[in-house]
Amino acid sequence: MRTLEDLDVDGRRVLVRVDFNVPLDEDGNITDDARIRAALPTLTELRERGARLLLAAHLGRPKDREPEFSLRPTAERLSDLLGAEVTLAEDLDHVPDGDVVMLENVRYEAGETKNDPELAKRYAAFADAYVNDAFGAAHRAHASTEAVAHLLPSAAGRLLEREVATLRGILEDPKRPLVAVVGGAKVTDKIGVLDAFLQRADAILIGGAMCFPFFKAQGHEVGDSLCEQEGVDPARKVLDAGSDKLRLPVDLVAGQEFDAGTPVREIDGVDVPDGWMGLDIGPSTAGRYAESVKSAGTVFWNGPMGAFELEPFAAGTRAVAEAIAVSEATTVVGGGDSAAALAEFGLVDRVDHVSTGGGAALELLEGKPLPGVEALS
Ligand code: ADP
Ligand code: MG
Repeated sequence: MRTLEDLDVDGRRVLVRVDFNVPLDEDGNITDDARIRAALPTLTELRERGARLLLAAHLGRPKDREPEFSLRPTAERLSDLLGAEVTLAEDLDHVPDGDVVMLENVRYEAGETKNDPELAKRYAAFADAYVNDAFGAAHRAHASTEAVAHLLPSAAGRLLEREVATLRGILEDPKRPLVAVVGGAKVTDKIGVLDAFLQRADAILIGGAMCFPFFKAQGHEVGDSLCEQEGVDPARKVLDAGSDKLRLPVDLVAGQEFDAGTPVREIDGVDVPDGWMGLDIGPSTAGRYAESVKSAGTVFWNGPMGAFELEPFAAGTRAVAEAIAVSEATTVVGGGDSAAALAEFGLVDRVDHVSTGGGAALELLEGKPLPGVEALS
């Protein structure tokens, strides 16, 4: 993969694809600017090396040029963080000159998600070189992530470079034991990465609602727990792989409703009675998982251990996050909700790498080629 070392940028205009797909509240205010800050090393380096920047990014999934998906708030926040004026180009017919210019939401263009070569040519015509730093969009072959990379001298930005190196390191040469902690809502989202870790990891610790398809496959009662029906067969296959690497919860914390005020009970075992839903791993499971994490050489964590947004069901996720924070292991966290949990617990700075790309990180770990990365090699 080509990196910034391979690119001559002095006096040139560089089209930089960034991942500024930030969360906004109802009033359009940015609630977390971590993704914007994550691009600063690349943007600053390019400017110091004499480049003018033309930024391209997407926000959400607009169907049309809907104003709530405008990048204007993002351009303003970037301007504050960069200490430089950032000019927003209304559309591709009005792209001004300037040291830092940002295109409007690339998904306002009909051809963007179709990887349209004509649209890519229009992007390329504005610039002398192309840098992709949008790791979170690298698993998509879109005009601004894939097609355009073939039309200009191109390279990976520092963020994308670090993401790929860190995640490939887990696949290719992890310090052992390699422990994967996989949770979250749906097993079908994570089945590819489970398969990959069945090959490579020394232990796989399962938590979150995705343990219920496993329990159902084993014949346990899941009560009213969130249990993805299409996940039961894939879970059974993982169980049949007969791996002694796989660990499932041995106790649970349950509530009657998905609500912080609901009655709460601990269940010793994993059979959930009718009228109750398992909303967290229990204390005994949390203790075992924490021990396993602490003695690991490498930890990859994706997916919360429970409904951590509700305080009565946050303890399992917190215990795992704290164990990851104090572990001597190389620690890598991927996934939007897992990263949000880390932030809520104030532990972001205590892990080695928090991936900015949930889907992209999982696909890379599954061994799938990422179109946005392939186009740079
Ligand atoms: P990530 O974004 O880190 O990949 P996911 O999106 O897969 O994680 O899953 C996060 C969601 O899973 C959270 O909203 C959380 O509330 C939910 N969740 C986890 N465990 C449970 C559970 N036992 N019951 C219901 N929801 C759960
Ligand atoms: Mg999520």
